This record gives sequence, structure tokens and C-alpha cells, in this order.
Amino acid sequence: MSVPVSPVEICVFAGDGIGPEIMTPTLEVLELARANAAGPPLNITEHPAGAGHYAATGEALPEASVAAAKAADAVLLSAMGLPGIRKPDGTEITPQIELRFRLGLYAGVRPVKVFPGQKTLLADPRAESIDFVLIRESTEGLFAHMNEGVVSDRDATETLRITRATSEKVFDFALHLARTRAKQRGRPARVTCVDKANVFRAFWFFRQIFEERAAAFPDIATDAAYVDAMAMWMVQRPWEFDVMVTENMFGDILSDLGAALLGSLGLAPSADIGDAAAVFQPCHGSAPDIAGQGIANPLAMILSAGMMCDWLAERRQDPRLGRMAKAIETAVASVLAEGRVLTADLGGSASTGAVAAAVRDRLG
Ligand code: ATP
Repeated sequence: MSVPVSPVEICVFAGDGIGPEIMTPTLEVLELARANAAGPPLNITEHPAGAGHYAATGEALPEASVAAAKAADAVLLSAMGLPGIRKPDGTEITPQIELRFRLGLYAGVRPVKVFPGQKTLLADPRAESIDFVLIRESTEGLFAHMNEGVVSDRDATETLRITRATSEKVFDFALHLARTRAKQRGRPARVTCVDKANVFRAFWFFRQIFEERAAAFPDIATDAAYVDAMAMWMVQRPWEFDVMVTENMFGDILSDLGAALLGSLGLAPSADIGDAAAVFQPCHGSAPDIAGQGIANPLAMILSAGMMCDWLAERRQDPRLGRMAKAIETAVASVLAEGRVLTADLGGSASTGAVAAAVRDRLG
């Protein structure tokens, strides 16, 4: 197969709090994986955005940074926002959410996969086989009119918006993903729509669009669940699910629950994907409580870089990037299975740098 020779343009946002601490070692891991796989050159450029940048300049997400993100092949972002730095209306600085709107990143991909030997919070031995992906619609739902809520002395109102066009796209994304996973895992595909269709008309609309799109994928088993029940099942029997697809706010909450199943937010990677762009970042925030101490877990960030390679491999039809993705995931799995070099969130005492070095060691 002929592969593109042009460098892969990667736009990096190192962000706030622990962001720079986990981004630097991740870029080192990425470069080593590239060198080992004789992968395409990576042209990595860093751009400003975030709470620190807002405090210094009054601007959270400069237009030049948005333009760089749009022009790049992919965006790698660590974490943005700090509780002490807020806009005049009291809300936090969240350029990572604004980027989803500006780049049309409707599919938030949140894999919840337990690697062999990894400790989880659940005592049940079946927890070792947890391997599902939560797809969070990321541009509308309860976030559609973010920053436009109406607040008076007596009440406050926010608006939830579901559109047919975006719902169709996100359901098709989830159904296609389930089909790909079925081939990779040799198991039947299943997609579960998570909503609150028993109470809200908007979610009944959402559910009906899901059923319409599911009819076009007869090879895939589909069902639906209410979000409150799903929150319970994700704790009681998470190993039964394959792909879940849900609204923005429900997805926001369930993805943290998914990360908790893994034992730590520091292990949960993610991708936000649109038709023309994609951003890869850990599920966690800037963790200001541990920033500057060198103890943040870098594995979610490193796994997000692996997801980026996987997405780029498909997009650029370049198997070398696919090998980089596989190598990064295998190296992380090996560090977790061995359980010797872990950060405090996973019960260890290793530093961020030591964990990243252990990953590089496995790659080497
Ligand atoms: P956001 O709303 O921006 O996602 P959050 O309020 O969910 O942020 P986080 O910054 O994700 O908060 O932190 C939640 C908790 O998880 C904190 O105690 C933090 O120290 C811990 N945490 C988050 N990321 C990591 C990490 N990579 N390594 C270790 N601990 C982490």
C-alpha cells in the first residue's frame, strides 16, 4: 500500500494544571513509538489556550489557536481550566468545550477497557473483561446553549436541544464503531441508546431517531436504556455492554463513572471526533489539587495519543500509524499488568516521569 510521505501535523494544547506535566512525557512516548515503527514525521506545534492564558491575556481560546486546530491533521490536548480563574458570570474557562463546537466534534468517544491484571474497584472477577465504549454526543443536548442560561433572583432556566441531523450522525458513528469492534474482537456487536425517553419528549425524539438509524444496520443488536438504570448497571454488570450512545450531559456524567470503573480518572482516554477534525485528550481535568507535584498519572494522556494514532492510521490509510497505536496500548497494558511502577491514584508511589519512563521502556 502506498502511504502519504507528508508529515502529520499535530496541534498541541498543553493547557493548565497538570496539563503540561502529562503532555511533555506523552510527546516523548509518541516520538519513540514513531521511531520504532519508522512512522511518518510528526510536525508538532504548541498553541496557547486555557485558564492561564485567559488570566494573562483576557483571551481563553485565541482565534489563531482555533485556526491551527482546524488546519492540523489532529489535535492533542491535555486539560484546561482552573477553579480559581473564572469569567465575570462565575463560570470556568472551558476552551476544550468551545473547541468541540468550533470544530463540529459531535462524537465524544470514551473507551472503558480494563487491561489484563489491572485492579479495578469491583470485586467481581468479571470486571477483568470490562470493554465498552461510551459515545457522548458533544455539541448539543444540555450543552447546546451553554453560557446562555437565564438566571433571575427567583429562577434559572437552561435549554436542552436535540437535532435530527446531529443525532443521525452520532448514531451512525456508534453503529459503525460497533461493527468495527465486532470484527476486531470476534464478538457480536451491540449498541445501547441511553436516554430518558419515559419523561422528556426530546429524548423520545432522540430514541426514535436511534431506532430509525438502527434499522439500517440489521447486523447489529440494538436496545435502549434509561440513564438512571444505566448508571446502576454500569456498576452492577458493566462487562455486558459493548457500545453506548447518549446525550451530552448524560455522557459527561457517565464517562466519569466509566473512568471510576477503571480505578482512576488518570486511566481514561478520550477522543472527540467530527467529519473534518478530531481532538484527543484524557477524560480528566487539570487536577489543580495535585498540579506541580510531579505525581499526576500520565497514562490517560498517553492512551489518548495512542487513540490519535489509530484514528490517523484509518484517515491517512497509513499502517505505520496503526502500529504506533498498537505499540502504545500494549506498552501501557504491560506497565499496568506488572503493577510495579504506578502513580498514587492507582495505589503506587511512582512519579509521572517514572511511569512515562516505564512505558518508554516497554516500547523500546
Ligand atoms: P473537569 O470538570 O475539568 O473535567 P474535574 O472537576 O472532573 O475536572 P479533575 O481535574 O479531573 O476534576 O480531577 C478530579 C480528581 O481526580 C482530582 O482529585 C484529581 O487530583 C484526580 N485526577 C484527575 N486526573 C488525574 C491524573 N491524571 N492523575 C491522578 N489524579 C488525577
